[in-house]
Amino acid sequence: MTTDAGVGPLAFMRAGRSGSAPGRSAATERAAKTLAGTGGQPLNPLDDARAQLQAAVDRLGYDQSMYDMLATPRREVTVSIPLRRDSGAVEVLTGHRVQHNLSRGPAKGGLRFSPHVHLDEVRALAMWMTWKCALLDVPYGGAKGGIRIDPSSYSVGELERVTRRYTSEISPLIGPETDIPAPDIGTDEQTMAWLMDTYSVGQGRTVLGVATGKPIALGGTQGRASATSRGVVHVSLATLAAHGRLQGATAAVQGFGKVGRGAARLLFEAGIDVIAVSDEHGAITNTKGIDLPSLETFVDNGGRLTEYPEAEVLTDPEELLFLDVTLLVPAAIEGVIHAGNAARVRAPIIVEGANGPTTVEADQILTDAGVTLVPDILANAGGVVVSYFEWVQANQAYWWSLAEVEQRLEERMHLAWERVSEFAREHGCSLREAATTLAVRTVASAHWARGLYP
Ligand code: NAD
Repeated sequence: MTTDAGVGPLAFMRAGRSGSAPGRSAATERAAKTLAGTGGQPLNPLDDARAQLQAAVDRLGYDQSMYDMLATPRREVTVSIPLRRDSGAVEVLTGHRVQHNLSRGPAKGGLRFSPHVHLDEVRALAMWMTWKCALLDVPYGGAKGGIRIDPSSYSVGELERVTRRYTSEISPLIGPETDIPAPDIGTDEQTMAWLMDTYSVGQGRTVLGVATGKPIALGGTQGRASATSRGVVHVSLATLAAHGRLQGATAAVQGFGKVGRGAARLLFEAGIDVIAVSDEHGAITNTKGIDLPSLETFVDNGGRLTEYPEAEVLTDPEELLFLDVTLLVPAAIEGVIHAGNAARVRAPIIVEGANGPTTVEADQILTDAGVTLVPDILANAGGVVVSYFEWVQANQAYWWSLAEVEQRLEERMHLAWERVSEFAREHGCSLREAATTLAVRTVASAHWARGLYP
């Protein structure tokens, strides 16, 4: 399967189309449970992002002022979004846009719709975007946006109004040469179409380059919908091969959205037995391997993942993380592997499809246990690489074929994977330390070359 259709664009829309679901969503319940699993300590991804930066600054021998500069977002805005609900009631939502760093080019990063969005999370995600762009040699800085909303509780019309009002509020910040949003958790190509349209109306002209991850009909690129998953699978296969574990490999994938579903499908197509997958409602397993095309058809026809008849439901979905598999791909949310559960992970190889799924403490536990972990800023960079291709095409009004996009993506992913692996080997450090150090060095070089103004 090489088309984009199969990897779930508009999947959340399908889930949310029927309207409101009152009360706490399954995602909210699950997140509360994840926090409980850490001994009640709230997870703050910004603490982790800053700790990773500090380690890289120390390794590079940079002055503390470089840490201070890179630990602090360049610009951030918080907006209130008054929404008229279908019922006529007015509700006020909160949204953020954080531009972490602009030294290497315009800011770039996704827009997240989730009830768990908070400013520190957006700051952390923006910082990771800066490193990701630098590592993959994409000429952008890092940004991220988020609106605190559970999209499954709102109608399509309400989501459109929220997106348009948010876009209008942040429009002084965004633009093809300043800051370019893309889909993330809870958003998709339709969200980007509304964002691009709202921005364009404000400008009085069509501005295709203001967002990426758009529908093909609106200047989207071939290959964007599957790009993150494809990148995850390129580095997964490279890592499995490098460790002599490709033959007979098995995998478990957490998250069945834009990233996880595509990754599971592409792993299956590569001959890996995907023995477990999960979404926010639960996890399923089949030790003989799940037939991904059949599962996708089942889900696309309205079935719940946990109702799929050819697999068993895991009583505790978290158990997916501890299965005896060769490859574990967390591709859902942050902080799922933490100090309270890292020692239970049995997979020798973890490839982070999600941003920040492993806390700093868990990272250390896994490294000490000899687990090879391919970090988010490398593993899930396929999305921003093809977003960059989309932006280049939109700015030139010249379109590439799917084969061209996929070949260039594969080249970039392999090159970055090799650079990071070589650095880790040379310096005797983990792949995360290697990736962050290389990225921070690239951004710091841009800072120094530009100098401080005034
Ligand atoms: P999505 O909204 O399309 O899918 C998220 C999936 O995770 C859904 O299937 C949801 O049910 C599931 N989920 C939520 N909580 C869960 C839990 N506790 N356990 C198991 N499953 C759970 O989002 P996405 O775009 O696939 O993003 C997933 C992750 O990948 C995020 O960390 C995101 O920042 C990161 N990421 C996405 C892209 C992209 O191009 N979409 C690029 C890079 C990184």
